[in-house]
Amino acid sequence: MRPGLAVILVGEDPASQVYVRNKVNACAQAGFHSEKHAYPADIEPSAVFDKIAELNADPKIHGILVQLPLPRNFDTEALLDAIAPEKDVDGFRAENVGALVQGQPCFIPCTPYGAMKFFEEAGISLKGKEAVVVGRSNIVGKPMAMLLMHAGATVTVCHSQTRDLKAHCLRADILVAAIGRPKMITGDMIKPGAVVIDVGINRLPGDDGKSKLVGDVAYGEALGVAGAITPVPGGVGPMTITMLMKNTVTAACRAAGIEY
Ligand code: NDP
Repeated sequence: MRPGLAVILVGEDPASQVYVRNKVNACAQAGFHSEKHAYPADIEPSAVFDKIAELNADPKIHGILVQLPLPRNFDTEALLDAIAPEKDVDGFRAENVGALVQGQPCFIPCTPYGAMKFFEEAGISLKGKEAVVVGRSNIVGKPMAMLLMHAGATVTVCHSQTRDLKAHCLRADILVAAIGRPKMITGDMIKPGAVVIDVGINRLPGDDGKSKLVGDVAYGEALGVAGAITPVPGGVGPMTITMLMKNTVTAACRAAGIEY
């Protein structure tokens, strides 16, 4: 049995193209079967729904991922809901979200799952810790908060309407930044010794004319204050891909009736 992942990309967003390429390459390196289905931004949504129905029925495919964001004319929730639950390796379908909230077995969304693996591998206990998640998106902030809560942390979720973000951040033993704003979390917003997970991926013009990736945390400043911090690039991004592959292996094992 060979795990199989299908990735659907709609539109020409350069960042999405890079993410999809990295995911497909990682699968190829691991010996997975992988397929990329790319469509122009003006494709009729029904064509993508048809492809998902085809992939749902394809025994070679165990996981289906739709790269987000989708063009505006797409109903993102409806498209994600078209993925068969047993192939929803990104964990974005409503059933998966509900199972996550209830602490039942589910596909855990890959980015927060990767962050939880960091804590586990680094031996960082979350019980009783003050955790602050900045960002409340369905794909990062909300599931991240839920996982931290299940792990015993006391969780605060901040967002664009939060008053005095700095005061909240300064209380955090565990600070997760998932905002999409370059270097927004500065050194003076971090409690000394805090563990900082920087989820943000932002492109800024580099000195050499090429764009460079920076996170949501001002890394240089944070290094002097935090007890531990994930870098951008090289931190959460690769872990997200790793957890995607883990979820795909889990889906393949379930399809084959193997306990995993
Ligand atoms: P979204 O744009 O969906 O969500 C951003 C969140 O940040 C929102 O909840 C928003 O609040 C909040 N926010 C925006 N401005 C502020 C502010 N000034 N103060 C406090 N909160 C604010 O982004 P995503 O969750 O999808 O992604 C976040 C970042 O993580 C992006 O940089 C993205 O590229 C990156 N990312 C990285 C991944 C990886 O593999 N490393 C995977 C997925 C995302 P509100 O809800 O009120 O609008």
